[in-house]
Amino acid sequence: MNDIDKFKAALDRSERIVGFTGAGISTESGIPDYRSQGGIWDKFQPVYLDEFLADEDKRLLYWQRKKALWQGIRDARVSTTHLFFKELYDSNKLLGLITQNIDGLHEKSGLPKEVLVNIHGTNLEVICMQCNDINPAHETLDDLDLDNGAPLCTKCGGLLKPNTISFGQSLVPEDLERAQDLALSCDMMIAAGSTLVVHPAAAFPLLAKQNGALLAIITQSDTPLDNTADFVFHEKLGDFIDRLGN
Ligand SMILES: [Zn+2]
Repeated sequence: MNDIDKFKAALDRSERIVGFTGAGISTESGIPDYRSQGGIWDKFQPVYLDEFLADEDKRLLYWQRKKALWQGIRDARVSTTHLFFKELYDSNKLLGLITQNIDGLHEKSGLPKEVLVNIHGTNLEVICMQCNDINPAHETLDDLDLDNGAPLCTKCGGLLKPNTISFGQSLVPEDLERAQDLALSCDMMIAAGSTLVVHPAAAFPLLAKQNGALLAIITQSDTPLDNTADFVFHEKLGDFIDRLGN
């Protein structure tokens, strides 16, 4: 179950691998874990979607926070774990990757967008809440001046919002469908850096396992699927990837 040589052999045999990643792979890139102690949610009251839509003060508060975080998001570097999945892709073994992270680091590692399911959205994009136009976040955030109010769509005047799933906002049905297809099509799922407790996203590793795929879990803490998985490694991702390379 925690035999790295057996995991390597399974990795070699697998042809349709799907990655499932959570905050643990990005903390090693300097992105704070939103849910852990000292994480951002400890410091801020969240802005719910209905508040964002109804209240300019809440919108400004929301954008102020994004603006404060933007430099860190923009300049964050990929970790060895992001590169591990990119290498699987380069070897034609990676069918897709479902991520709970919104930091855009899988894109930065070079994974094409069509391989990725950003199940909780991405901070690298800004979406118009009216016409659904999507643009790179740097166009809005690099020189964001909030003195004249929250930013608006240049095409229709609608409200702009980072293209992430806010509190009180539903996940995107197409993304859930794509994630489900991946879970049902893979022969191995590698869940890395996720505690596998945030649903519905965390349901996909179980679905893959129930459908006959091997399930590997690599994360520092225990997960509800540890007893179900074929491989479980409780250690730092970076350490694990190093061991894997040796
Ligand atoms: Zn618009």
